[in-house]
Amino acid sequence: MSRPTEIPSPTSLHDLTFSALEQELLAAGVRPVHARALWRALYRQAEMRPDDPKFLPPLRRWVEEVTGAGGRFPLEQPGSVADLKSSDGQTRKFLLRLQDGETVETVIMGYPGRSTACVSTQAGCAMGCTFCATGQAGFARHLRPGEIVAQVLHCQHALQAEGQPGLRNLVLMGMGEPLLNYDAVMTALEIVTERGGLNIAPSHVSVSTVGVVPGILRMAHENRPYNLALSLHAATDAERTALIPSSRRWPLHELIAACRTYTETTGRRLFVGWTLIAGTNDAPVHAERLTELLAGMDAHINLIPLNPTEGYAGETASQQAAERFQALLQAAGFPCTLRQRRGIDVAAGCGQLRGR
Ligand code: SAH
Ligand code: SF4
Repeated sequence: MSRPTEIPSPTSLHDLTFSALEQELLAAGVRPVHARALWRALYRQAEMRPDDPKFLPPLRRWVEEVTGAGGRFPLEQPGSVADLKSSDGQTRKFLLRLQDGETVETVIMGYPGRSTACVSTQAGCAMGCTFCATGQAGFARHLRPGEIVAQVLHCQHALQAEGQPGLRNLVLMGMGEPLLNYDAVMTALEIVTERGGLNIAPSHVSVSTVGVVPGILRMAHENRPYNLALSLHAATDAERTALIPSSRRWPLHELIAACRTYTETTGRRLFVGWTLIAGTNDAPVHAERLTELLAGMDAHINLIPLNPTEGYAGETASQQAAERFQALLQAAGFPCTLRQRRGIDVAAGCGQLRGR
């Protein structure tokens, strides 16, 4: 199990929120009004140049100093190791290399026009879900805020380079468990939703969790303005721990109680993810148990057919089983979407590209 986040001090310019940037400028004797020009260069331009002629001299001196060799806040510039497009043109997947050589997956989905970035929050994952390629590979480390922000920026720049409209949605559904890297994730989200910068609407951001109860409660109590998606996959403890060994720590009754607290405190709907696996969680009895578990809750269920991975013998549910499952949930009054398997040809399953 990875340890809960300890917030490291910022080590790149992209780790800083707007107000942290103002503080840094103030401390360096640069008037904080300059923060806006720098922020625009970081988040509104295709490329950030430390010697940008639009920077007034005091700002330019500071930027050149902190981003230069041995500076305190270098730019976060992950290199692209792989860049693959699915044959249907709807998914583009990047493998990005971080400063220390770790790699993370970042995906653009659903474009043109209504693009969603899917980004990673950790290099690897400690939760060990049996069906997930990232879980099979294990945990390397937490990402810093700037490393999460840089993935969003990479997608934004890729869209701009194609002449596409910018990002509309952001989902934290790449590698890693966001709520085990809570502080870095919330800082990154503050940065990418800032209105003078990337300006992604908070209501268009979804945090996906395997069910880290303390993190869910913290999101509720802090009234974070983002959507919460719970990857549930099973409605009994025995079935759930078989798929998600680490879920032993938070039994279902505790998890669902935390989710009820979340929906009641925030007034927001819960999104429930259910990866459909043939013969494991796709029968009518599983759908019935799920409706009982969620009874009375404002929940939307997303059914995702399993992407087969090398380390897991399970198979995708049939279209027929998936549609039957969906119909049962809908009959019980739950909105329920059946996702199509997308981008299979670009190793779309989380962690599969890195695994290669
Ligand atoms: N750790 C978080 C977020 C990253 S995983 C979480 O688990 O929610 C993002 C989503 O991908 C999760 O819903 C997970 O269940 C799903 N997923 C992982 N491996 C998959 C696979 N092989 N096929 C289909 N969905 C998968
Ligand atoms: Fe981690 Fe999510 Fe994969 Fe489970 S599904 S191993 S929590 S990334």
